[in-house]
Amino acid sequence: MAKIDTAYSLEIKDVIDAIEANELWIEGILKDKRLFKCIDDNCNARITCKNMDTFADKRKVNPHFIMSDRENMHSSTCEINKELEEKRSKKREKKGGRASQYIGKKVCFHIERPKSHRIVEYKIINDEKGNVTNIEEEKKKNRENRKMHNSNYYWLNSLIWYYIDAYKKGTTEQDTVELDFGANKKYTYSLNRLFKRIKNEKEATDRDGYHYVYYGKGTVYLRTDGGYDLVFYEKFFGSGRRVKCIVEKIVLDTCEYGKLNKTNVLKAAIGKERFIYTLSSKNINKKYNTVFLNIKNLDCIAISEIDLDSIGRTEYDED
Ligand SMILES: [Zn+2]
Repeated sequence: MAKIDTAYSLEIKDVIDAIEANELWIEGILKDKRLFKCIDDNCNARITCKNMDTFADKRKVNPHFIMSDRENMHSSTCEINKELEEKRSKKREKKGGRASQYIGKKVCFHIERPKSHRIVEYKIINDEKGNVTNIEEEKKKNRENRKMHNSNYYWLNSLIWYYIDAYKKGTTEQDTVELDFGANKKYTYSLNRLFKRIKNEKEATDRDGYHYVYYGKGTVYLRTDGGYDLVFYEKFFGSGRRVKCIVEKIVLDTCEYGKLNKTNVLKAAIGKERFIYTLSSKNINKKYNTVFLNIKNLDCIAISEIDLDSIGRTEYDED
């Protein structure tokens, strides 16, 4: 089976990818992993988002779309199915030959949620229009989305799945992330440049005030104020200072979307060795002999059980 990249959610009436679906489930927007269909207007093939209703720290396989059942496959006119067939036959031709030039994928990560955030939009659809929706309008939107779907992530946990996937495939040079700080401040990085493994990075650089995804092995402690300390076992290359990210109680309190689930991810990691990721700036504090990683909000933290050191960059097959 070729990979299904996007599906049409019957719950929010929009085209999304599987990681976005997982994020929306965590935030309580999506409820049922079976409520998806093929994105072709003329095809009613039902799709299931496997692992949509799981947390990153609990699973070994990414959320992904599969056909719901073998009796209800793509219709004969489905364009998506045609594209998949073409891809499949091209792949067969390619076997043994030279691989084609890979152009790379791109996702957008929003650090600040825009006012017209999708959740706000969905609420309007549900509350005001109820079941009465403009079908033509919807179909048009659907077609446009299908042509150029841009994945939009709001929680770092989603982004690390994209990173780990690229890491396995060896495409971290080509795959990119657009960081959206709001107010039209957007910067595009390759995954290679955005993700910085602490033990391999120099401690002091002229870009310490910039935001990068610093990551490495570490653990989580509960703070007396009810917040959390993320303490890394690794140090920056050649440095003796410990590395730490403080999640103050106020950061938990001001989390608007999926607070309970996101807090549980931290709680579940207390005392355990994990891979910790923070989208943060860096502050070297000589007095405390510590490098502090400063986050903007709870969405800028991710925790994973996946040990990148044990992932061999072997040949990766989508099938
Ligand atoms: Zn279809």
